[in-house]
Order: sequence, then C-alpha cells, then structure tokens
Amino acid sequence: MTERAIAIAHRVETFVRDVVVPYESDPRREVHGHGPSEQLVAELRAKARTAGVLTPHILPDGSHLTQRETAIVLRKSGLSPLGPVAVNTMAPDEGNMYLLGNVGSSEQRAHFLTPIIAGEARSAFFMTEPAAEGGAGSDPSMMRTTCRADGNHWVINGRKAFITGADRAKVGIIMAKSDDGACMFLVDLPNPSIRIERLIDTIDSSMPGGHAVVTIDNLRVPADQMLGKSGEGFEYAQIRLSPARLSHCMRWLGAVERAHEIASDYACRRQAFGKPLIDHEGVGFMLAENVIDLKQSELMIDWCADVLDSGSLGTTESSMAKVSVSEALMRVADRCVQVMGGTGVSGDTIVEQVFREIRAFRIYDGPTEVHKWSLAKKIKRAVQSGSGQIAR
Ligand SMILES: Cc1cc2nc3c(=O)[nH]c(=O)nc-3n(C[C@H](O)[C@H](O)[C@H](O)COP(=O)(O)OP(=O)(O)OC[C@H]3O[C@@H](n4cnc5c(N)ncnc54)[C@H](O)[C@@H]3O)c2cc1C
Repeated sequence: MTERAIAIAHRVETFVRDVVVPYESDPRREVHGHGPSEQLVAELRAKARTAGVLTPHILPDGSHLTQRETAIVLRKSGLSPLGPVAVNTMAPDEGNMYLLGNVGSSEQRAHFLTPIIAGEARSAFFMTEPAAEGGAGSDPSMMRTTCRADGNHWVINGRKAFITGADRAKVGIIMAKSDDGACMFLVDLPNPSIRIERLIDTIDSSMPGGHAVVTIDNLRVPADQMLGKSGEGFEYAQIRLSPARLSHCMRWLGAVERAHEIASDYACRRQAFGKPLIDHEGVGFMLAENVIDLKQSELMIDWCADVLDSGSLGTTESSMAKVSVSEALMRVADRCVQVMGGTGVSGDTIVEQVFREIRAFRIYDGPTEVHKWSLAKKIKRAVQSGSGQIAR
C-alpha cells in the first residue's frame, strides 16, 4: 500500500471516530426515516473540509486514487453510517464523480462535477423504473424512459423509481432510450419537469434524500448536456458499474468491521452463566467466523481493485466480489446482532442499523442472483469455447 493512501486513510479514520461517531445519536441523522437532514450533511461536511478529509479519494490536482488505495480510504469512511455522507465518499455521488471524471467533457466537468467534489452539491443516478410498469430493474434493457432529438435539445419522458438522493440533489444523471439505444444526460436539479412523486419507505435510513419515485415530463435538455454519444449509454454505465459496486463493498466492509468491534466488546464484557459471553464456544465461534468473513471480504476487494487498476473493466471480477462481499458481510452483521442479544436489535448501538441497511446491498448494483446468472453464462461460454477461466 502507498504511503499517501495510508496517511489519508488514517486521517479519515481519526475524523470518523472522533468527530462523526458522536453524531450517531443526533436526531437529525434520520429525518422521517429518509436519511440525514441537509442541515446535518452541511454541518458534517464543513467539519470534514476543515479537517482536510472531504472527498479524500480525489486529490487536489483532480486525480483519483487507485482503486487499491481507494479501498482503504473508503473502508475507513464507512466506520460510521454517517461517515460516507460526512466525507463525501457516499453512493451515488462517489460513482457519479467517477463517471463524470472519466466520460464528461471539460465543460461538463466544470459545471457538474466540480460542485460535487467540493461537497456543495449532491447528485442522483436515474436508471431504475417502477416494476409495476414493466420498467428497467435487474434488466436495464427494459428501459421505458424515452428521449428524442428536437432541434438542439433532447426531450425526455418517463418514470423512475428508487432514485437515491433525488430529493434535493443538484445534479442528475438520467438514462433514457433513443432510437440509437441508451443515452445519458446531465441535468441541473431541481427542474419543474422532474417531479418527485414520493419517497419510498425502505429498510435503510442513512441516505440524504431517501429513494424517490420520479416523473419526467417533457424535460428539455440541451444537446451538449448529453454524456458522450447517443446509443452508448450502457457502455458508460459499464465504466461506472465495476468501481461503484466495489466502492459499496469498501464502505460496507468498514461499517461491518465497526459492528464486529462493538459485538466483540460486548462479548468480552457481558457475563452469562458465570463467565464472559466470548468464553462460551457458541459465541466465540460466531466472532471467529466474523473475522474469517471480514478478511475474505478484504481480500476479494483488493483482488478486484488490482484488476481494475490494471485497466480492465473488471465486470466479471466485480460481480464475483460484489456477491461474495455482500453475502459475507450480511452474515457478519447478523452474527453481531445475535452475539449482542436484545441490545443487538435496539437503537442503542449502530449494529441494528448496519444489519438492517446491509440487506439492501444484496439487491442494488445488481442482485446476487443476477450476478450469479451472468457468471454462469460466462462459464458456459468458456467451456464451449475452451477458453478456460472466466476471471483473472
Ligand atoms: C436502497 C436502494 C437504492 C437504490 N438506488 C438506486 C439509484 O440511485 N438509482 C437507480 O437507478 N436505481 C437504484 N436502485 C434500484 C436497484 O438498482 C434495483 O432495485 C435493482 O437493479 C433490482 O431491480 P428491481 O428492484 O426492479 O428488481 P427485479 O428486476 O424485479 O428483480 C427482483 C429479483 O429477481 C431476481 N432476478 C432478476 N433477474 C434474475 C436472473 N437473471 N436470474 C436469477 N434471478 C433474477 C433477483 O433475485 C432480484 O432481486 C436502488 C435500490 C435500492 C434497494
């Protein structure tokens, strides 16, 4: 690991443990079940800016840490559910920054990316559509939102669902279909043609703005706000996909490590039947299995990060890492709850929140089954063509 990444990760960890963790009991951390208030986000970011840890994975010259370096930094930011929000490493902004940095024109980067990196604007990624209407979900090719050229503009119509942070975001990346195929557009928010219909009641509560159902009604977007070219939207989505999946793994690894710390501490202090819980084999084994799953997750992340750093899109490897890490960390979070008895399901520690929220990680950025199905197709092709292994 590089010295610069170790130094940044250390600063982020110190900030999250010393400054962010005390906010975990702040009533503003969860406004009506839909994530922290904008006031709290601004307050935390002001402190992160002063501490020099805001957007720590992007360097002052605009360059990005390698994926391997990003792994330790984002992992430390995840030590508190409020950590990624505070230091601006949260989804979907982190993935959106990566996409804009790689595909945006210099004008687009100046207008849309700069305020996100500065922590002054939140962004949202509009791809999924309502299941009840047969829209894009696990299968993005089912996209129903349309865009058509009209002079020097594009006109977009459709409905989107589960759009994280759309409510009060300032930047939107909208996916729609033209006659050429999928397209991506950058838009300033709010916009009267993009209507937030409702915030969905979901299992999680740490994302500012929650997750919205949105109607896009004759939205006119200037042609120069298309990201890349018409019909190439899914290719750009691929650029975002692997690093974004992996950064979820990184942040969740930090969150579950903290849950494991709390559960281990509980098991060492709490007595039952004349001895500390950890001395009961059933409890000791659960904590032992935790450290095994945590280490395996760390190694999967580092392996996949190396593949991405080699210049590969890493679609196969990031599928494998996403399945492995999300399933393993869910097991760890569940054991942490169990070890802590009633306290584990209470709001007295973040263990309950981590357990509750990590459930959705097995669904977003590709449900486990979709990744396995895609891996199986690659295995079949490899067998039929005699090409051997499907991953590095
Ligand atoms: C908390 C959260 C935040 C989100 N944020 C965003 C966001 O910001 N922007 C955005 O665009 N979307 C977002 N999403 C949407 C997310 O990407 C979708 O939920 C996901 O792609 C699955 O689509 P779906 O919900 O329509 O499930 P469906 O497509 O209805 O799939 C349901 C289930 O079917 C199974 N399945 C599907 N295909 C296969 C297959 N080939 N083989 C085997 N089983 C299969 C899987 O078990 C899957 O879970 C978010 C979702 C959640 C839960």
